[in-house]
Amino acid sequence: MRPTGKLHLGNYMGALANWVKLQDQYECYFFIADWHALTTDFADPSRIKLNTIDVALEYLAAGLDPEKSTIFIQSHVPQHAELNLLLGMMTPLGWLERVPTYKEQQENLSSKDLSNFGFLGYPLLMASDILLYQPQFVPVGQDQTAHVELTREVARRFNSMYKTDVFPEPDVLLTPSPKVPGTDGRKMSKSYGNTIGLTEDPVAAAAKIQSMSTGGQRIRQTDAGDPDLCPVGDLHKVFSAPEIAAETQRGCRAASIRCESCKMEAAQSVCTLTGPIHSRRMELESKIDETWEKLCEQSAKAAARAEQTMLAVREVLNLSHDLGAVRRHFAASSEDLVKAHDLTEHADWWALPQDEQAKQLRDYWKSNLLPRDVQLSQESNRVFASLDRELEEPFLSAKKKRVFVTTARDEAQADEWNFEIPAKSYEVWTLLRWRKQGCWLDDFVIPQKYYAQPFAKAKKSLKKDEKIPLTVRKDGDRILLSIHNGESVDITELRSNYEPLK
Ligand code: SF4
Repeated sequence: MRPTGKLHLGNYMGALANWVKLQDQYECYFFIADWHALTTDFADPSRIKLNTIDVALEYLAAGLDPEKSTIFIQSHVPQHAELNLLLGMMTPLGWLERVPTYKEQQENLSSKDLSNFGFLGYPLLMASDILLYQPQFVPVGQDQTAHVELTREVARRFNSMYKTDVFPEPDVLLTPSPKVPGTDGRKMSKSYGNTIGLTEDPVAAAAKIQSMSTGGQRIRQTDAGDPDLCPVGDLHKVFSAPEIAAETQRGCRAASIRCESCKMEAAQSVCTLTGPIHSRRMELESKIDETWEKLCEQSAKAAARAEQTMLAVREVLNLSHDLGAVRRHFAASSEDLVKAHDLTEHADWWALPQDEQAKQLRDYWKSNLLPRDVQLSQESNRVFASLDRELEEPFLSAKKKRVFVTTARDEAQADEWNFEIPAKSYEVWTLLRWRKQGCWLDDFVIPQKYYAQPFAKAKKSLKKDEKIPLTVRKDGDRILLSIHNGESVDITELRSNYEPLK
């Protein structure tokens, strides 16, 4: 929601009441869109912060719960602006110009100058707000579906242009938004000045309902009326218990109740709902510092989640801070570094025990180097008694191939790496060779056909449970593998070759 001050019953029934329910079913993010407020109110930002706090207090008073959902302020999460800028590079102008609300709003708010770049771009800022959290659903009313459709188009374009799957295409979660009449019978809206505040003092709210229009019904109280044509009748439909709504309907049609008591009943129904919300708001207002702190805390939590997405986005657009690829480019003449991965950022591994280093390298390889379209799962969920055991647990590829991943460092820096493999049947070996000096890691993915025969021979000649020793060594510009000192196989071409894992 944009921070435009206190909320009214229309805002509550149209969105907030649904959100309060959704937080029990989903992991939700709700925010106060203060940057969006600036797209139309840029000329006078004096009330933005006050209004932001106001909306936050209304959220919390209405039942949004920071223990269940993340509730934050948009401008406290700068990733929204960064993503907006990046998506702006690849979004065609026509997509923004044809968003239906763009023209509509320009006409509705003709008193404001809306010929600014920010206003044209607000649907893209919305798309960024959404995609940053990689959500499954966006809970909106019917009038907002065009924005979600644009979001989906932007996500699709980004994914296909950069051959990635960073963004999901979120679905609309249509939420019920009953028509709440304003005190003059038109739709409740701030711009009509006909609102009843969500946290308005119950006495003031009741007085407003008492003076509500009856839409021309029952000018003489002896006349029968049609409650479907009276805004008070509509209030009953939304806020009264079914038996009270039915009773007032009957009484109106039979002219057996007075409008005054019908309105009193309606006021009673509204205040039964808003009374506790009003009290909670009063309580929160007395602890404004705590509430603000909570919002800042929650904004930091949102920023941490948003940053995860941005890391992936920056990587895709070649904007990440990792210098690896560039360093390798400049070091291309050094054959060791061709296709090798940079480990500079992980210098602290070298102080770890070797087994732990091996485990961490394996995890690093799986989460950072493995292409996204390769799916490896752990064969079992057993909790391993020892690290050794864990290291031997193979992965399974999507096609259920058993993949053994192991690491070796060239201790003597003599271009030779010594691996050990349990004498078991794995369909693919992944050998991670790495070198401390120069900080690089190289991966070879080796299908069974390269080692089946010498491996079977070695198994026979070794004792039960003895591991099979392998050596990888550099020979000129070739990389050779030999199993248990047997004949060498050329594995140069298998460098970073992930095909056997697919
Ligand atoms: S009785 Fe109630 S619903 Fe009927 S006209 Fe009067 S205020 Fe409206």
